[in-house]
Order: sequence, then C-alpha cells, then structure tokens
Amino acid sequence: MLQLHKKLGEIRLQQKISLTQQIQTRAHELGFALVGVTPAAQSQTLQRYRDWIENGYAGKMDYLEKHLPLKEDPRRLLAEAKSVISLAMNYYTLDTPESLATDPGCGQISRYAWGDDYHDVIRERLRHLVEFMRCTLSETGYTSRVCVDTAPILEREYAQKAGLGWIGKNTNLINWRSGSWYFLAEVLVNVPLESTEVPDFPVGRGTVPRHATLPRGSCGTCTRCIEACPTDAIVAPNVLDSRLCISYLTIELKESVPMELRPKMGNLIFGCDICQEVCPWNSKAMPTTEQAFYPRAGNLAPELLSLVNMTQVEFSSRFKGSPIKRAKRRGFLRNVLVAIGNWGARAALPALKIALADDEPLIRGHAAWAVGQIGGETAVRLLKTRLAVEDEPGVITEIQEALARL
Ligand code: SF4
Ligand code: SF4
Repeated sequence: MLQLHKKLGEIRLQQKISLTQQIQTRAHELGFALVGVTPAAQSQTLQRYRDWIENGYAGKMDYLEKHLPLKEDPRRLLAEAKSVISLAMNYYTLDTPESLATDPGCGQISRYAWGDDYHDVIRERLRHLVEFMRCTLSETGYTSRVCVDTAPILEREYAQKAGLGWIGKNTNLINWRSGSWYFLAEVLVNVPLESTEVPDFPVGRGTVPRHATLPRGSCGTCTRCIEACPTDAIVAPNVLDSRLCISYLTIELKESVPMELRPKMGNLIFGCDICQEVCPWNSKAMPTTEQAFYPRAGNLAPELLSLVNMTQVEFSSRFKGSPIKRAKRRGFLRNVLVAIGNWGARAALPALKIALADDEPLIRGHAAWAVGQIGGETAVRLLKTRLAVEDEPGVITEIQEALARL
C-alpha cells in the first residue's frame, strides 16, 4: 500500500490533475453523464433499508434480505476498496406519442427497457474505464470491482453522497440539471481517490473537498409522484411498498398478480414510469446519445394482440438482449393478459381462446381473468369449455371467479 500511495503522489505531481478528474473525463468519454467519488465507507442508510425489508415492503424479493450483510459496507464486496466511483448513464430517448400511450389496445413498456439490455452496455463501458485506470495506475497493485445494478450495494446512497443528485420522494436519484432517467453503476477501487462528496451530506460536513459538488435541487413541497401513482405504492415520501408497485408486479413477481391490483395496471405490461414522468425535474431531461437505448422495432407501444400468443421461440428471439427477457415468457404474457382484460375488447377473444389452452397455468389463469373482464356470451362459453378440461386448482379458481362476475 505504501508503494501505491507513493506512485499516486508521483502521478498527481506529474500530471497536475487529480486521478478523480482523469477518471471523470474518461467516464464522460465513455458515455457516463454523471460521475462522482466517495470513500469506501460503511453505509449510513442500512438501518432504514433493514426497516423497509422488515415492514414487508420488499415483497417476494427474498434476495434483498439475503444481501443485507453485504450491503453494510462496500468493502464486503472488495476488501481492499478505498473509493467508490458512482456513475450514471442517461437513457432518456423520446416520449411515446400521446395517441399510442393512451391506446388501451397497445402495451406500455418502461422506457429503460425499450432498447438493448443496459447491463451489457454498461458492463462493456466499465470494462474500458477499468482498463484506463489499470494503465494509469500500472505497477501499483491496482484492483477493482464493477457493480451494475445487481450487485449488493446501496447505490443511490453512494451516488447521492458523491453529488450526483438527491433521492426523491419517488425513490429515484434525481439530478437538478437533468432529472432521473439514469442507470446507476459503481466501480470499487483500492485507490484512495479524491472525493467529490457533497458538503451537506452527514459524512461530508466540515471542510469542502476541492472537487466537491455543491448540492442542488430538492423535492420541496412537491408530491406529484405520490398523487400520480395508480396503486398508491409510495406510502410515504421516499418509501415504496414494492408489493403495490407496478414495476415489481410486472417484472419481479413470478406468480399471479393480486386480483385487486390488476384493474389499476391499465396497459402497463413491463415496468411503470408514471412517478418519473410526472416529476418536474424530468422536464429538463435531454435525449441520450446512446443509440443502444433507443426503442427497438416494436417496443414502443406494441399491439397487445401481437404479443399474447407468442411461443417460447418467438419470445426468446424477439427479446434477445433486451431487459424484457427478465420477466420470462410466462411473466410477460401474464402482464399482457392483464392489459387485455383492462382493454376489454371483444376482438381479443380468439387470441384469449388460444391463451386459455397454453401449457403454462399462470397464462391460462390470467387469460381466464381477461375473458371474464370482456364478458358476453362468447366469454361465458370459452370459460365453461376450459373449465370442463382444466385440472390446475389455481386456474380452476380463476375461471370460477371470472364466471361468477359474469
Ligand atoms: Fe407507482 Fe408506477 Fe412509481 Fe411504482 S413505478 S411507485 S406503480 S408510479
Ligand atoms: Fe420529488 Fe415531486 Fe419529483 Fe416526486 S414528483 S420525486 S416529489 S420532485
């Protein structure tokens, strides 16, 4: 470590700009709009996070509790870590035309999933950043660890501390200049980099570091996101009950969507952007230059009927390299069926007849619900015909409940 410090001193002297600045410059070149650095130190919000899990707000995401010990300190992920580099990549592309966004026969996909899988895009860029640091710090025993979304680190805490923005009442990290349409990532390094810590964060009180970012922006008295949420999932400022959140229901939940929440999901078939769309800070968002995040053909408000009878082969081919594959065919078609039920158009009945005979019980059950929402004689006939041959208890219950509503 002595050798490492000596080498860092030499590099700074020679280049007269800090390593933090060099890393920020290289990260900007690689497409990260926001970059900041904090010391690798124990989390200050872990207890709050623990309370959130204990309240049941994580729903069935059991892995969040399993990861708790690792989230306590980034040094659990890289023992020799000295700094956390927080990075944010803009994924704002364009707005869905109003006529498509409000067409109940078309599904809405969260904008983060319109293009290529961000994990792949960001991991590749971080590989270049790590390579840059390795070259800059050659002969110093440099080590690092890259974290993209799935790593157990309380990333918004470190991003806020590093001056990238503040955590809004909708729980997203918001930048005062450009809003919240950002993917977050981190690189842990064993190098004691100059911090960009914001001075008003508890840890940063006192001397303002040379590269500190002055904190700007806040939610103030605004409550737009809380009021706009269709399921009242933001139960208090900055407290999200995942069990009610449409993003959780359509992506993370692997089983049936609770019946009482289905009508509130409208035509949202993968994720939900409502609490970000209403945020006034997002009126400042500028489109990203990252072409990978622009909508793939058919991902901007696809017709529900073009999705509902996809085979596994068609699903895998259509969503290869897309974040949508996370829901798997069964989860994605479940969401599409909820949207069809909310659409309520008789034109969907032939497609629903096929879905009622799907191999996957989750799909059959939600198809029954959708048929029940549409109603009419044909709907009753379809449900009774399926009931006569159905052997899965969960699906039988869905059919019986759908018939009872008719
Ligand atoms: Fe509510 Fe949608 Fe935001 Fe979840 S993502 S909190 S459902 S507005
Ligand atoms: Fe904060 Fe208002 Fe944005 Fe919600 S909508 S995150 S309250 S500024």
